[in-house]
Amino acid sequence: MQVIAKTININGIVQGVGFRPFIYQLAQKYYLSGEVANTAMGVSIYVEGLEKDIDSFCSDIVSKKPPLAQITTIDIQPALVQNRNGFHIFPSQSADVRSTCIAPDASVCDACLHEFLDPNDRRYLYPFINCTNCGPRYTIIEDIPYDRPKTSMKHFLMCNACSSEYNNPGNRRFHAQPNACPLCGPYVTLYDSSQHPVSTDDPISHVRTLLKQGFIIAIKGIGGFHLAVDAENEDAVCRLREKKLRIEKPFALMSFSIEQIVNYAHVRDVDKQALLTVQRPIVLLSKKENSTISKHVAPNTSFWGVMLAYTPIHVLLTQPPLIALVMTSGNLSEEPIVISNDEAFSRLSPIADFFMIHNRDIYVRTDDSIVRHMGNDCRVIRRSRGYVPTPILLKHKLPHVLACGAELKNTICLTKDECAFLSQHIGDIEHYETYVFFQNTIQHMQRILDIQPRIIAYDLHPNYLSTQYALEQDKMVKIGIQHHHAHIVSCMAENQVDGPVIGLAFDGTGYGTDGHIWGGEILIGEYDRFIRFGHLAYTPMIGGNAAIKSPWRMAISYLYDVFGHGIDLPFLKSINSQEIGFAKRMREKKINTPLTSSLGRLFDGVASMIGLRNHVTFEGQAAIELEMIAKDHCTSRYEYSWSKDIPHVISISQLIEGIVQDLNSNVSASDISTKFHCTLIDMFADFCVHVRNQTGLNRVVLSGGVFQNAILFCGLINSLSLQGFEVITHRLVPVNDGGISLGQAVISAFIAKTLV
Ligand code: ZN
Ligand code: ZN
Ligand code: FE
Repeated sequence: MQVIAKTININGIVQGVGFRPFIYQLAQKYYLSGEVANTAMGVSIYVEGLEKDIDSFCSDIVSKKPPLAQITTIDIQPALVQNRNGFHIFPSQSADVRSTCIAPDASVCDACLHEFLDPNDRRYLYPFINCTNCGPRYTIIEDIPYDRPKTSMKHFLMCNACSSEYNNPGNRRFHAQPNACPLCGPYVTLYDSSQHPVSTDDPISHVRTLLKQGFIIAIKGIGGFHLAVDAENEDAVCRLREKKLRIEKPFALMSFSIEQIVNYAHVRDVDKQALLTVQRPIVLLSKKENSTISKHVAPNTSFWGVMLAYTPIHVLLTQPPLIALVMTSGNLSEEPIVISNDEAFSRLSPIADFFMIHNRDIYVRTDDSIVRHMGNDCRVIRRSRGYVPTPILLKHKLPHVLACGAELKNTICLTKDECAFLSQHIGDIEHYETYVFFQNTIQHMQRILDIQPRIIAYDLHPNYLSTQYALEQDKMVKIGIQHHHAHIVSCMAENQVDGPVIGLAFDGTGYGTDGHIWGGEILIGEYDRFIRFGHLAYTPMIGGNAAIKSPWRMAISYLYDVFGHGIDLPFLKSINSQEIGFAKRMREKKINTPLTSSLGRLFDGVASMIGLRNHVTFEGQAAIELEMIAKDHCTSRYEYSWSKDIPHVISISQLIEGIVQDLNSNVSASDISTKFHCTLIDMFADFCVHVRNQTGLNRVVLSGGVFQNAILFCGLINSLSLQGFEVITHRLVPVNDGGISLGQAVISAFIAKTLV
């Protein structure tokens, strides 16, 4: 049989993830000779052997790759046979041989966990055990090339045993940059709130006891500090809320195993899969009634946010009899999560009773990611630890672009070729510290991804700090992008779908091209342009942003539109009558009453109108509670209609009239909420049919934060699919403003192309 040869070039995350040893073993399996080497873009392989063996080798590369490897492209070419002897791993020599694709952080793998719990292993209970398949990556990188001296492991000199693992191509720890052991690696120490070391042989066991006693512990993790308490301890949970100034926003939970989680939450097979992925995100799970978890962990919602222990430290901390720990980000209110030991002592000492720290520095702040399984797929709601910096793969090659994102839930995005690198969740950059984090993230990602953007994209909102940042940059082509256009294109890009599409962009706030605040938008969207085909009718936001914090102001505004002054509903009795009078006068005189077409505000207004809440303490709170009280099925709808000309204005006065009628006939809040949701589903599905009749378009893209509402999201998918639409949705990219930067980047690249 004839011997042939091939060269295989692979791009993607293939360095520092055990890829070359994997190739080496695969070559042995198929009796191939040749070599594998790192290149600037990934790895290059030369193999010779029988054709059928080379074919199997190539298909195994894709199907059996190591868990952290991500292949973006694989190029296989015939080559001349060189009659090699054996297969070799070519050492990488120079600094210019480097990949700019870096792996995300990964939860401790089974092999490491096994050693960790084996009393005879030299790393028995060593909290920093890791290998090429697991451990920190993105969070410890200072610069490229990704090599130990460019990580926070540079301070630790490997002992002989670790070093021989590190240099042995057959070893699981070959080139595992964070490789360490108790002799040579980082270690954990425990301090009390006055920064005195606590004398203990076993800090982690000691912390377990302290947790059981109800103390608040600041714990250094992979991407930052957590604040932890025993989730069954009501007093501890309440004390944490008070000290953290976090009144009602749900806390995340962490448990050791699925068996522990089923004590307090319903875990479907799909949830189990999500919990067990190597990213170990927070998964939203339905609560079980009468569990022992404190109700103050997540008040007024039917979900817990739960993650499995993902570092060896967490594994020890969450052992029974503890069922779950509250593990909330180590910060005060909306500030960025704390990453350094000094910062922890200075900023978290008013909150934490003890500090469990270690001496491996975190260079890059990365929050826990959040996912939810809904509409037959797992959806990333907050994309951070475990996902970043894995690129989103695009259909089109793009130039180097920097997109600055929006204001709340900010992320930034950098593009290069067919890769879009979405940053980790940065947060609300209206806070100064978060804005600094935003700037640092831009610098850091440009450096480690080797991207020098000449195009910068920003939101049209003139007051966003991200916009101001973009406008301050020199020597860049600056392109302003409409917020909802960015939402739709972010979903198109993620799904590698070209326009034109029917785009439903529903959210709380986005600056419109007419200077009003949009948020209930039906667009005809393409990569470089859009038409506003329809939108919800404009309503004044009484007091501007104050109406976001106080949904009763929206309720009054919607009611005023329909009924003028003469309306009296029970919810009004719970608001100061002077304030109501003042609000009505502002509305009449049009003082500080920007117009909005936002669907998010409509949810808020309806929630207030039916007596759910007049004030919110976090974004989306009223809308979430409105969703929580709705039932699965309904039979009735409110009326709706839209105007003739484009953009069609979708009237909501019949809806408001109907709700008031129901309130006057003592229909329950739950029934009104159900009917409200069903009306929206029918209304938007009907509108899409109308758009299809007018334009012939059959593809509908759903994006914007309002689609975190499962009833609306799943209801629209069902209804649109039944009517023959192809429905495109987010999975990897957040549906909320965390996805905006991706849309901005793609749009600006396409606009720049037509500019050239
Ligand atoms: Zn491992
Ligand atoms: Zn060692
Ligand atoms: Fe938005």
